[in-house]
Amino acid sequence: MGGGTRTRPTRNRPVDASTRAGLSSGPGWYEEAMTSDAASALSDPTAEVVDLCRDLLRIDTTNTGDNDTSVGERRAAEYVAEKLAEVGVESVLHESAPGRANVVARIPGTDPSRGALLVHGHLDVVPADADEWSVGPFSGELRDGYLWGRGAIDMKDFDAMVLAVVRHWQRTGARPPRDIVLAYTADEEAGSDYGARFLVDNHRGLFDGCTEAIGEVGGFSYSVNDNQRLYLIETAEKGIDWLRLHAKGRPGHGSMMHDDNAVTALAEAVARIGRHRFPVVVTDTVRAFLTEVSDLLGIELDPDDPETAIAKLGPIANIIGATIRNTANPTRLSAGYKDNVIPGRATATIDCRSLPGQSELLERQLRELVGPDIAIEYVQRQPALETTFDGDLVEAMSAALRAEDPGARPVPYMLSGGTDAKAFSQLGIRCFGFAPLRLPADLNFSALFHGIDERVPVDGLQFGVRVLDRFLRTC
Ligand SMILES: [Zn+2]
Repeated sequence: MGGGTRTRPTRNRPVDASTRAGLSSGPGWYEEAMTSDAASALSDPTAEVVDLCRDLLRIDTTNTGDNDTSVGERRAAEYVAEKLAEVGVESVLHESAPGRANVVARIPGTDPSRGALLVHGHLDVVPADADEWSVGPFSGELRDGYLWGRGAIDMKDFDAMVLAVVRHWQRTGARPPRDIVLAYTADEEAGSDYGARFLVDNHRGLFDGCTEAIGEVGGFSYSVNDNQRLYLIETAEKGIDWLRLHAKGRPGHGSMMHDDNAVTALAEAVARIGRHRFPVVVTDTVRAFLTEVSDLLGIELDPDDPETAIAKLGPIANIIGATIRNTANPTRLSAGYKDNVIPGRATATIDCRSLPGQSELLERQLRELVGPDIAIEYVQRQPALETTFDGDLVEAMSAALRAEDPGARPVPYMLSGGTDAKAFSQLGIRCFGFAPLRLPADLNFSALFHGIDERVPVDGLQFGVRVLDRFLRTC
C-alpha cells in the first residue's frame, strides 16, 4: 500500500474555465457514496465502480440534438469533477453552451518526456422512452447481476470505470508511467459540436502532448466457446457523410397534368440510393479481423466473398457486416404543404458512412445514382479513421486482457459508427476504442446500444476496472 491515503475527501472545486460560475455551495449529494467503506476502496480498485456507474445513470443526460431540450450534462460533469476533487485531482469544466459541460483533468505520469495518453468518455446519452423499458431508464437499478439504465454501456460504464481506477490510484499513491489526460465530454450523441469538437477547436492546449487515446466501442468480449473470447479492439471507424438531396420542379395544381414534379424526382433518387448495394471493399482492419475470427471459428474465409463468413458471426454480424462497404440509408423526407399543391421543392436526408479513404468515391457514386437534376448538400462530413493493430499500446491492452482472462483473443475491428475519436484524431492523436468489458456469451451486446433495457453486467464492469487498472499502469 502506497502513500497518499486520503480517506477524507478534499473539497477543491473544479475550475469552471468557461463560465466562471462555481458549483453550488452546501453539502453535496455526492457525499452519500463517501459513506462506503474507504478501506475496501483502498485495497480493491473495483470497490466503487458500481456506485459510481449507478450515480451517473441516475443523472438524466439525454441529448436530443437540441440545446433547449438536452439536459443533465452540466450536472454529470460536476459530479465527475467532484469525484476527482475528492481525491485531489483538479479538473477544468468547459461549457460550450449553457448546460453543455465538459470536464478535463491531467494525471501526471512518472515520465514527463513521454507523450500523454488521452482517456475520453462522453457523458450524454440518447433519449429513452420509459414506456418501452422494464425498469426506469434513469433508475440505475441493480437487477439479475446487471446495472440497468440508459448509458449503461454507452458509455457511463466506462466513465465510471476510469473514475474508479483514478480514485483508487489517488488513494494508494499509484502513478501512471506517462501523463494521462481525462476528458469527459458532452454531445457525442449528436455530432460532438458541444463536446469533443468544441474542446478541440477552442481548448486544444488541454491535449498538449497527447499522442494516443482510448475511448468507446472496443474492448468488449465475444464468446467463441467456453474457453475463448474475442476482444474487439477498435482500430478503425467509418466516416460520417450525412447529406441532403434537393429536388426542384415546377409548382402546380395537383389536379392537372404535370411532368416536372419535385416529389416524384426526389422519390426516384431516394429509392435508387436506398436499394443500391455498394461494392465490397475489405480494408486491412477488416481483413485482420476476419482472418483471426475465421481461424478461431473454423469458418472458411473466401476473400472475394467475406459476407458468407460474416453471416456466421451471429450477434456481431450486423456490426461487422457494415464495415465491408460504403452504406447509404435514406432517413428523412420533406416536401409539400397542402394535399392538392405540387411543391416546387423536395428534400431527403441520407445517412451515408464511408470506408477509410472512400468519402470522395462515395460522393461520385451518389452523384451518379441521383443524376444531374438532384443537388447534393453535405450536412455532416467527418473522415473515417484507421490505424494499425501494433505497437506498445496495443501490446499493453492485449496483455491486460490476457492477464484478467486467459482465454482472451484481442482482435482489431472497424466500427461502422462514429465516436469522439473523430474529433480527437484531428489533433494527430492515434485513437483506439478500448473500454474493456467481459460479457456473458448469450448477451446480444450490439442490440443494447441505443436499445431498450440497456444494461451492463456488474461482473463485466468490475472486470473492466481490473483490465483498465493494469493497462493504465503499463501504458
Ligand atoms: Zn457512445
